[in-house]
Amino acid sequence: MQYRTNPRNGDQLSVLGYGCMRLGRNEKEAEKLLVSAVEQGVNYLDTAYFYAGNEAMLGRILQRTGLRDRVKLATKMPQYFVKKPADLDRFFNIELEHLQTDFVDYYLMHTLNSLDQWQRLVGFGVMEWIAAKKAAGQIKNIGFSFHGSREEFRRIVDAYPWEFCMIQYNYLDEYNQAGKDGLLYAADKGMAVMVMEPLRGGRLAMGLPREVQDIFSHAWPERNPAEWGLRWVWNHPQVTLALSGMNTSLVLEENIRVACDAKPDSLSEEELALIDRARKIILEKTKVPCTGCGYCMPCPYGVEIPLCFSCYNETAVKSKFRSQMKYITYVGAHGASRCKQCGKCEEHCPQSIPIREKLAEAARSLEGFPYKPAQALIGRWLRWEKGQGDQGSERKEEHSS
Ligand code: SF4
Ligand code: SF4
Repeated sequence: MQYRTNPRNGDQLSVLGYGCMRLGRNEKEAEKLLVSAVEQGVNYLDTAYFYAGNEAMLGRILQRTGLRDRVKLATKMPQYFVKKPADLDRFFNIELEHLQTDFVDYYLMHTLNSLDQWQRLVGFGVMEWIAAKKAAGQIKNIGFSFHGSREEFRRIVDAYPWEFCMIQYNYLDEYNQAGKDGLLYAADKGMAVMVMEPLRGGRLAMGLPREVQDIFSHAWPERNPAEWGLRWVWNHPQVTLALSGMNTSLVLEENIRVACDAKPDSLSEEELALIDRARKIILEKTKVPCTGCGYCMPCPYGVEIPLCFSCYNETAVKSKFRSQMKYITYVGAHGASRCKQCGKCEEHCPQSIPIREKLAEAARSLEGFPYKPAQALIGRWLRWEKGQGDQGSERKEEHSS
């Protein structure tokens, strides 16, 4: 494992951090993965209050395995839920309890996307609150995660002596959100910069357009698309670490292999030009820039939003029939046309996707033939199956009475 120095405090942080959000709910599997990652040198684990059950699962795993002292733990204040000063303590204490710890090494204001949002917290006394927590040793480093515009990023950085920040950064997002400008700006201020979505929620690893796969498969040295994506991020010396949501041992081992080798400023001009070509093609073929983060979920009307978008994006790189088959199989009755336009999901989307509009497009593209007849057939079969079950239980009751 390679380590980079946090310029603020000298912490040696593994270039590969563990994004625990995508660990899933199988605690045994999650434990195996985390133990293996730490054994191989990963020493930064990231979670959040907002990731349902994730903090508590991580807390139990750290407790059972005794790994707490070997890692830097990062979690996040759900600042969007803070409605009064007392909420700051309330959420923080719940988080400590979930994580079974007395302190948080790296604490972030979650999805702080504008100066207005920060000023709202300032109105609740957040600066004094942070100072008190730091004095008590309960927060070691304070930062924020960000999905807003480049301008807002600079404003937030300038508004407070942050120790670190977390930005979305990958070769598709070089000029999106905080982007390269934000990375350099924060690094110039001496902040540590943690990167999330280095592979855009896996999009840069799998399901790439054929032309992009061809670019990578004919390139030398031989590398898979995920490796190209990660190397691009780590090529920036200003990046302190990149988080990856590794949910299989194969992905974990592969990422660790790259993390042991990818040095800053190591990509050649030719390699960077190759990634640039890939970027242009992917952007041309992206219908919805969804990362699959799930922040928009659950939809009160049952729409499987990220899955709808994943299938819709596939229509640009696979045959429409295959995308429709995936849609029928995985989205089923939770399709885009169930959307009732309430807009709740859009308030939470870090990518500012006009979800309602894009769902309508997805429905037009994916819900023609054979989706509707398939849904009707499945519905009829489910009703028949339920009927059989009801008759069965009626017979059982008759028999027992
Ligand atoms: S706008 Fe549509 S998809 Fe979004 S929460 Fe409302 S019903 Fe669900
Ligand atoms: S629509 Fe937005 S919030 Fe929902 S999964 Fe995609 S990127 Fe995340």
